[in-house]
Amino acid sequence: MDITPVTPANSRSLPNVHTSLFIDGQWVEALAGERFDITDPGTQEIVGSASLGRRADAVRALEAADRAFPAWSRASAYERARILRRAADLIRERVEDIAVTLTREQGKPVPDSRKEILFGADVIEYYSEEGKRIKGDWITPVSTHTRSLVIRQPVGVVVAIVPWNYPVDLLTWKIGPALAAGCTLVAKPPSETPLAVSQVMQCFADAGLPQGVLNMVTGPGREVGEELVANPLSRKISVTGSTSTGRRIMELAAQHVKRLTLELGGQAPIIVFRDADLSLAIPAAARRSFSNMGQICIAVNRIYADKQISREVAEGVVEFAKHMKIGHGLDPGVEYGPMLNEAGREQTRSHVSDALERGATLLYGGKEPEGDRYSRGYYYLPTVLEGVTPDMRVMREETFGPVAPVAAFDDLDAVIAQANATQYGLAAYVYTRDLTTALYAAERLEAGGVGINVNDVSELGAPFGGWKESGFGRELGHEGIESCLETKHIRIGGL
Ligand code: NAD
Repeated sequence: MDITPVTPANSRSLPNVHTSLFIDGQWVEALAGERFDITDPGTQEIVGSASLGRRADAVRALEAADRAFPAWSRASAYERARILRRAADLIRERVEDIAVTLTREQGKPVPDSRKEILFGADVIEYYSEEGKRIKGDWITPVSTHTRSLVIRQPVGVVVAIVPWNYPVDLLTWKIGPALAAGCTLVAKPPSETPLAVSQVMQCFADAGLPQGVLNMVTGPGREVGEELVANPLSRKISVTGSTSTGRRIMELAAQHVKRLTLELGGQAPIIVFRDADLSLAIPAAARRSFSNMGQICIAVNRIYADKQISREVAEGVVEFAKHMKIGHGLDPGVEYGPMLNEAGREQTRSHVSDALERGATLLYGGKEPEGDRYSRGYYYLPTVLEGVTPDMRVMREETFGPVAPVAAFDDLDAVIAQANATQYGLAAYVYTRDLTTALYAAERLEAGGVGINVNDVSELGAPFGGWKESGFGRELGHEGIESCLETKHIRIGGL
């Protein structure tokens, strides 16, 4: 995203939102004094502004995190847990305020914002407990004169970089394990949606977190993000974003051989077998294609349905799409909001036209909804395509828009091969009543998470992450905290 600086005098702000940088326990303006605007995707109104951090601000935040590390890493895990638990409770108390902010900057309906924020609070609470369960080992030695202990210690300053589609949630996935493990952290929120994240930062401050343990710098990824990644003060980089951003971050992190967790793009298939309960499978496929306007890394991008039921599946998805209540995220009863911006909408349009040019049939959508209430926002109708082939962009690339292409299949191994024929490997879904088919497919699908008769692979206590170019490393579960810990072998002799 290109950021255009605005003068502080022209900048606007939502109530109850700090919009500057959070460094060393203080809200401070960027050193250069610049700001940038935040736009409501449903109206194109400017709803606030944030401090435009630069490299020097990123360095200030890293230095604060580095100073805070010795005391925080040596604090009792139980003391860290108490503060994290308080922060989780404050996030829950303030959920309504934060949800309105998130909806205004991101576009998703308020109930979805609320769900995202409350899940984020659960993640912080979970890690407040998980931090108490970091264990070591006592190894049986070869020699009777030595002893070997293995201990786990926090890796150091962690950098957390997050995208705009779930900014609060995905940040808590990084803050929770890092702080519970004894690391300190610098967050780089997305420039499109930094405001709800700021409110979450305030919850940590109010929970009594010592200064410097958690810091936040808003600003361009290419500048602030790159400084945070490349600067020798950070020891672990945890990024959720596109695969191209992940590639660039890998290059930068390689210079100092930093620990990386990369949660990158996806292109998830759903396979609906002929024995599936279609009353579950069709809404599950449609919801996972259209929810958050398809702007989800684990969104269904391809629907493969057995040829005996593919017509019924396609018609069912169209029916679902026709009845979706689309509108501004603040309006009561709205289930689906606008897309984030014109760039995302244009990418969706171009994927749809590519499919149509290559012979797909448009069953529904493929354009903006009509009417005054949609005229200023980045709305796009949920779109259903049939007769799609593997060469089409919708079947190969991450559309990141509300498009559901339906393809028919008639052979189990062939459909699994097609489902795997992508550079991505984040999530895959299988709908069938047959246990053998379900496990056969689940074991062969190349993805970090496979849902059987369920359209979501995120589960707080289970590892989440990708295969192939969807990244590596895992978040959530105990694996999430493992990635914030170094292993040390202590060998004792002379016994
Ligand atoms: P993006 O890659 O453009 O940006 C993500 C973050 O990285 C932003 O904060 C951005 O400022 C920062 N950034 C960009 N360039 C950088 C650089 N060179 N160095 C350091 N930081 C940089 O992604 P986006 O458009 O915000 O989000 C959409 C993408 O995120 C999609 O590809 C989606 O699949 C992916 N995503 C993945 C997951 C997952 O868990 N795997 C979850 C949500 C979103």
